[in-house]
Amino acid sequence: MDLSTYHNRPIYGLIQKGYYDPISKKIKAIKGFDFNVKSKDWFIEAPLRMLFNVLDEEVAKDAKNLIVYGGTGKAARNWECFEVIVDTLMELKSDETLLIQSGKPVAVFKTFKHAPRVLISNAMLVPKWAEWSYFNELERKGLTMFGQMTAGSWMYIGTQGILQGTYETFAAIAQKYFSGSLEGKLVLTAGLGEMGGAQPLAVTLNGGVALIVEVDKRMIEKRISQGLLDTWTDNIEKALDIAISNIQKRKAISIGVLGNAAEIYEVIYRSGLVPDIVTDQTPAHDALSYIPAGLSLEQADELRSKAPEEYRKLALQSMKKQVEAMVGFKERGSIVFEYGNNIRKMAHEAGFERAFSFPGFIHAFIRPLFCEGRGPFRWVSLVGDPRDIYKLDEMVLSEFGSDLRITRWIEQARFKVKFQGLPARVCWLALGERARFAEKANELIKKGEIGPIWIGRDHLDTGSVASPYRETEGMLDGSDAIADWPILNALLNAVAGAAWVAVHHGGGVGIGYSIHAGVNVVLDGSEEARERAIRVLTTDPGIGVVRHADAGYKSAIDTAKKHGLKMPMLRG
Ligand code: NAD
Repeated sequence: MDLSTYHNRPIYGLIQKGYYDPISKKIKAIKGFDFNVKSKDWFIEAPLRMLFNVLDEEVAKDAKNLIVYGGTGKAARNWECFEVIVDTLMELKSDETLLIQSGKPVAVFKTFKHAPRVLISNAMLVPKWAEWSYFNELERKGLTMFGQMTAGSWMYIGTQGILQGTYETFAAIAQKYFSGSLEGKLVLTAGLGEMGGAQPLAVTLNGGVALIVEVDKRMIEKRISQGLLDTWTDNIEKALDIAISNIQKRKAISIGVLGNAAEIYEVIYRSGLVPDIVTDQTPAHDALSYIPAGLSLEQADELRSKAPEEYRKLALQSMKKQVEAMVGFKERGSIVFEYGNNIRKMAHEAGFERAFSFPGFIHAFIRPLFCEGRGPFRWVSLVGDPRDIYKLDEMVLSEFGSDLRITRWIEQARFKVKFQGLPARVCWLALGERARFAEKANELIKKGEIGPIWIGRDHLDTGSVASPYRETEGMLDGSDAIADWPILNALLNAVAGAAWVAVHHGGGVGIGYSIHAGVNVVLDGSEEARERAIRVLTTDPGIGVVRHADAGYKSAIDTAKKHGLKMPMLRG
């Protein structure tokens, strides 16, 4: 490739600094205080840095194909689009807004200073056409892109984001069923991908024994090298022996099992062993990502490209087999739940009528937190300094020290979480707490104690998702499939002054099954940043509380009243 074609382009500066190599397609997170954007505005430098961060090789699952996580969740439609997004951000003015249509930069409009600098819409389809086969056809024609939740909105922060979410889920189960700890308890799950990779450490942080089935040896090795997984074997008897002896000793350990979940779940079920908790995080939302039983990875790749329909059928049959075993475990007394990947629906489609015999994780464990406007809030040091994150840890411990769940997490995360790309921290904060965090963090920046900060949250949050098999499953008033809320969330956050806002279709559970929104806030120590952050970090969790209060949840109504949220239809 002739690099001279880049000489007159803004992106050339980043190529020269070694952040992007157009030949090998390697991307590194941008660090330091020097601006790369012409505007010298952190509200524009931040989306540029977060885009690079999600594609940093420590962060992304398959950066060469622009895939960040979650099966095929991408950050840009193709390399040409990536490069033009970068050029455009580098030249963008502080009163302009860049529009991204499914990973393609389509326009720049003059807006105004407090408006978002980037607006993103990913994978949106008119409902009648909203299914994978049609989506895949449009994607092959180069017209769209699957952005998952935080990939195509440039907000993914590596495995830590999901680590805390997964930790919170297992903590909630421990609280509900086992007096607060998983000591001496066995968790069976599958998938060590970008989301699933958090499962082993999340279980051991709660004191339990985790058995995780993964079909790809490279993913097992990756999780061991990251300190997320303790040990592994390709022999199921050996895995069960290690698990049982550690359960007896009440010692926390995570064991990877190399194999196919559809087969191994059945083997364990037949052995008569009843795990205390059973779930799964294979990429079941997309039949073309789930590896069918009996196929090696190479055979799966070949069949996928030669005969995708045949592949899909095999994958669905395997999911059916896996879900049959999961329902079997439930009948024998295990706590079984779907972990946000739509596997019940897939098994149902494959003909297993009792696939919905177990619940989704939000419905079963997380909704009470959503009613308080609590969800997966996170921040990143935009200059890439880990010390800034540790200073913010201290601030969180002093501000929110009376909340045991927060302190237990922060104290463990400081020592056990390795940073990937730009240093980041996630911590589930509620309505009120999020704005307070931003105000304190902005003061630290203003005093020069830390550098600029990005703040965001997973799309999987209190008021930003409509997903009837996940976040909005079993809503009190039956409003599971009402998708007005994420759209109102995005519109509200945009007018409140978010740095960038995204709306997506299909994240988590796949095309046809969800609509969701992402929000990004930037703190640079200025008064403008403080005002914008307080506004957005009130509207964003605020609409989550409103969504749940409107559905009739008593604790959400109490939270709305406590925070003085104005809901004209709420009387008394
Ligand atoms: P990923 O594609 O990064 O990883 C999936 C892993 O599963 C891979 O390592 C793959 O080798 C393995 N796998 C595939 N088929 C298998 C099989 N039959 N048996 C054993 N292992 C198999 O996906 P991810 O980002 O880890 O996400 C996993 C699923 O969770 C997706 O469906 C995603 O949409 C969903 N998800 C969950 C949450 C949540 O909060 N729980 C959030 C976002 C996404």
